[in-house]
Parts: sequence; C-alpha cells; structure tokens
Amino acid sequence: MTTGWNFHELYLWHETGNAAQFFQPSLTIEPGEHAENAATKRRFRNLMEVSGLTEKLSKIASVAVSEDDLALFHDRDYVSRIKALSDGRGGDASYLTPFGHGSYEIACLAAGGTAAVMDAVLSGDVGNGYALVRPPGHHAERAQGMGFCLFGNVPVAILKNRAKHGFERVATVDWDVHHGNGTQSAFYGDSSVLTISIHQDGLYPHDSGFHKERGEGRGEGYNINVPLPAGCGHGAYMSVFERIVLPALYRYQPDLIVVPSGFDASAADPLGRMMLHSGSYREMTRMLMQVADDLCGGRLMMSHEGGYSAAYVPYCGLAVMEQLSGIRTDIDDPFLPVFEGYAGQPLQPHQADAIDRAEELLGGIE
Ligand SMILES: [Zn+2]
Repeated sequence: MTTGWNFHELYLWHETGNAAQFFQPSLTIEPGEHAENAATKRRFRNLMEVSGLTEKLSKIASVAVSEDDLALFHDRDYVSRIKALSDGRGGDASYLTPFGHGSYEIACLAAGGTAAVMDAVLSGDVGNGYALVRPPGHHAERAQGMGFCLFGNVPVAILKNRAKHGFERVATVDWDVHHGNGTQSAFYGDSSVLTISIHQDGLYPHDSGFHKERGEGRGEGYNINVPLPAGCGHGAYMSVFERIVLPALYRYQPDLIVVPSGFDASAADPLGRMMLHSGSYREMTRMLMQVADDLCGGRLMMSHEGGYSAAYVPYCGLAVMEQLSGIRTDIDDPFLPVFEGYAGQPLQPHQADAIDRAEELLGGIE
C-alpha cells in the first residue's frame, strides 16, 4: 500500500498580510511578516521534492468542500461572512486570523484536501496519508475563526467522510503545540470521536486545554487534554505517548486515526517553547502506525496545522513522511545532533507529574 500526499499550489497563495509576528503594524510596531505565512509549507513541499520522496507517493487531488460540507460543522452565517469578505479585499475571521481576497476558496480546498486524503485511506486506495494544507484548521470553532484558522479542516473532513463511509469511531491525536480547541469543540458531546490534544499549558488559547475539559453528555470522557509545562523534550512526549495516547487508543479501538499535525513543538519554533526534533516526530508516527496496524488496518492520516520555523518544519515533515511511507531518503536532518544534545531532553520530574495527572483521564473511555 502506498502513502497518499495532498498539496495544492493555492494553499501558498492564502494571504495573511503585513504583520509583526501576529500583530498588525502600527507606528510603534514595525511592519513585517505574519507568523503563519507560506514559507514553512513551501519549504516542506520543496524538501519532499528534493528528497525524491514525493514522486513515490500517491498524489491525491484537492476537491474543494461545499458550503453544505462546511455547514456540517460551521454556522452558516459565519461561512457567509467569510465568503463575503473573501470576495472583497479580505478581512479578519476574528482575533489573529487575517486573510485576503480568495482565501475562502483556498480554505475550502484545504478542508477538501484533508477530506480527500481521509476518503482515500478509508476507501483503501492508500494505506495512510498526509494533507499538507493551508490555512490550518484546529483552532476554528463553529461560528468563528481563531489562531490563523478559518475552517475546521479535520472536523469537516470527519463529518463529510462519516456521512459517506459510516464508520463508528475516529480518534484524533493533535500534536500541535497549541490546544486543538476547535476539534475539541466539534465533538465535545460526541463519543464517536475521541479527541486528544497534547499541548503547551496555557499557550493558546490561554483559557482552554485543561484536564477538566472531558466532554459533555454522551461525549463525556471522550476528550483528553494533556497540557504540558513549557520546556518538554523528546522524553516527555515519548512518555505521553506510552502512558496516555497509546492506552487511550487501545481502549477506544478507533476505525481511523487522524493527526492534526503541527510542528510547532519543535526546538526551533518561534511560537512554541518545547524541544522536539525530527526523531521525535518520526517516533510518534511509528507508534501511531503500530496502533493503527493493530486496531484498524493501518488507517492513519494527518492534516497539517502549525509550525513556524521555516528552517526546521521541512525536516520534521520529511521524517513523518519517511516513516509513513517506509521509504528512507538520502537526506539527513542537519539540526538533529544539535537538538538531541540539548539538556533537558529526557523526561524531567515536574513533567512526569503533569503526565500523571493526565493519566487519570483514561478511565472515561469505554
Ligand atoms: Zn500551533
């Protein structure tokens, strides 16, 4: 079975405008580039090309989702507002989420690329897959964009594919350094989607991502947040996987595993304060592939989220793609020896305490 790969040039044309990191320029803030710009995605795509790996994957075309597809998750008035602004000169989906002319169509392609890879995995056309989409999606809520995200790519893709394939259980494992609040909100009352988010405690959004958010009604127990203290490295994330993510997945027995995949927990990221390296992403991918093999015929797909180091995102991404495809390229990560050598990479006692507290949440899954 091959690995699916989705990319579309228009993803890079989504315009986030003139900014200093994420603030609008003013007379006291010098103009610059928005943190969520095309470079990290373009360079990931380019390193894939240079490595020769892209041509060995199954290309999966982006088919834009419809307004009805978006309405599976989103409020129709919100969708109409974004479309109207996008038809004009663009606007802001809410705090920190500027976009330009045409971003509505591009966001529909991004959700569509995610849905298409998921469909290909569920149909058995590919064994697993990755959608390198933009804009990202995991912060977008039902009636508002947030944190650089316009529409919930993963929720829309799950709901669209559930209507088509009728699967019973999906698990999402969000390893972006920020809390996957949008994905959590989409399935908060729904036990048919187990949502897990591993993130830096209190980073963004400041007011969500806590242990106490466990789901509600029929969804109670099926949302697991693992907030970690800043400074976690490879050892802490391996412990989270071994003690929380893998046991949760074996308890839940999903038909499909979906990863909202951000590379902003890397040691080089300007927005996150974690220390992962490409070897960490490779190993987390390996573990999820093992669970997927054990539980659901290997069905695993990822949709790109954050990651703001133009230099390093490509190497984290390549490691994931090498692992998913089982094809090792000739390209070595030049940063790996540096980041592996950082003090504090092994699990630290205060990090283990935070993981202990999250482990108590496993009992809610049946
Ligand atoms: Zn992020």
